[in-house]
Amino acid sequence: MLLIDCPYCGARPELEFVYGGQAHVARPRNPAECSDEQWADFLYWRDNSRGVHAERWRHTHGCGQFFNALRDTTNDHFLATYRVGEAAPALERVARPRT
Ligand SMILES: [Zn+2]
Repeated sequence: MLLIDCPYCGARPELEFVYGGQAHVARPRNPAECSDEQWADFLYWRDNSRGVHAERWRHTHGCGQFFNALRDTTNDHFLATYRVGEAAPALERVARPRT
């Protein structure tokens, strides 16, 4: 069973969590000044990278809090979790050697 480390509750089974999309997507400060293309980029376009990805998660069947995680999409390992508003940890600090 995959355990996810909620920054508020600690490690819990993945069944208690819901994926919430890419993390650190900043809403434009003044949407009225955005072009249609800029607004569409904000609403619809997300990274689909292979490797470490910053993601938003929610502990829906626990504390209900949103948080961010660094997850390696190649092996589904969660490298770090951190609270919304905190900066992502440096990859050098959280990266594990591949086995
Ligand atoms: Zn929690």
